[in-house]
Amino acid sequence: MKFCNFRVLAVFLLWNCTFAATVAVAADYFKTPEYASPKGTTIIHAGSLLAVPGEHAKTSQSIIVKGGQVTAIHEGFVAADAISDADGVTVLDLSKEFVMPGFIDLHVHLTGQAGANRKVDAVTMTDADTAYVAQMYARRTLLAGFTTVRDLGSRGTAIFALRDAVKAGRVAGPKIIAAGQAITPTGGHGDIHGYRQEVLDVLASTGVCDGADDCRAAVRRQVKRGADVIKVTATGGVLSETATGTGQQFTDEELRAIADTAHALGRKVTAHAHEAAGIEAALRAGFDSIEHSMWADKDTMKLFLKSDAWIIPTVYPITAVGDTPEKMKKGPFKDMPPPIMAKLLRLQSQPKIMTRLAHSMGVKIALGTDSGVSPHGENANEFVEYVNAGMTEMESLMAGTINAAIAAGYAEKIGSLEVGKAADMVAMAKSPLDDISAVLRLNFIMRDGVIFKHE
Ligand SMILES: [Zn+2]
Repeated sequence: MKFCNFRVLAVFLLWNCTFAATVAVAADYFKTPEYASPKGTTIIHAGSLLAVPGEHAKTSQSIIVKGGQVTAIHEGFVAADAISDADGVTVLDLSKEFVMPGFIDLHVHLTGQAGANRKVDAVTMTDADTAYVAQMYARRTLLAGFTTVRDLGSRGTAIFALRDAVKAGRVAGPKIIAAGQAITPTGGHGDIHGYRQEVLDVLASTGVCDGADDCRAAVRRQVKRGADVIKVTATGGVLSETATGTGQQFTDEELRAIADTAHALGRKVTAHAHEAAGIEAALRAGFDSIEHSMWADKDTMKLFLKSDAWIIPTVYPITAVGDTPEKMKKGPFKDMPPPIMAKLLRLQSQPKIMTRLAHSMGVKIALGTDSGVSPHGENANEFVEYVNAGMTEMESLMAGTINAAIAAGYAEKIGSLEVGKAADMVAMAKSPLDDISAVLRLNFIMRDGVIFKHE
């Protein structure tokens, strides 16, 4: 490197310097990822700590972090010299802050943002374009305090590449539990619509299947492609450009084949479902959770209780795009094609009504937003929606931390701040137990021991 400090005018030498510098950077890059957790010990002085949502918050606590994990939690503020670590000790002062586990969103779509360009984007963007866009949305989501997300449906392979890049510490984002392409019947909600036939052929989904055997193969195919979880469109959906309603689309037999295959391969299986009959069919088939559950009624809720499955309500997107016909017609989806608009106009307050009913009947609720419908980075508004729908502040925080971790099957590693779990945490000035909107203003964000925000 010293050689390169000379003022060299010869083109030959200049080229050599540039070359040497490039090699050095590349070598460092592979040795030390941009977002690798620091080698030494970090001591976090937490003014208030809600280590396990559902238990009491405690004042004046020290969280000890090493290698991206919580290694201890002590009463009071531990001084740097109380811990010996040859790699160094760093103390972070959050003594005026409320500290809690990083948030978890069980339903996002990081590879896109629904809007006017969506149909053109689908035929113009390459997998590489999609990966860069997804990285931007991943960063926004992390900076909203979400240290883990479950991505429930995307075309191509970008989501798997992004998941792996985050894991390797190359890019900033939440940990990603990825579904790949949703399992859908031909012409179903997860299939592609609204183009001429030749274009539909090019955009064909790897998740399309019809009949029990074909659907078993479709599940195996997603796992082979890299899926961590299986997402199924059990009923019609709102944003598919087809006037086929929101009723049951897969048969009971197909749903059973899908659920059994997913479980045999060690994957959770979750259903997008709106109308009661489709939700109930998925519950009878043994699904672990139901997304949206828009028109679940009292009988449906009883079946949830019997089957011990989770509801992922996704309330905020409807608020964001307009929960009255007047707001909808002025909002970001005002130019949606007629088949979609007809379904959008039916939603109104239904997500809030459904969430209130589910909560009052004691159904298990875990947080999911469907971000990508609402803007990425606004995910924490879902906590506020749950309190507005009758949940206590603590229940709402549980839905987006410990309960989301349990519902997704990752509670051994995430969801609370306990010894051996990931050092995923956020801090805010006010207690969200007093005012839930505190979750919208974070001063500190750590994921796997790496600080992504500290103000
Ligand atoms: Zn979705």
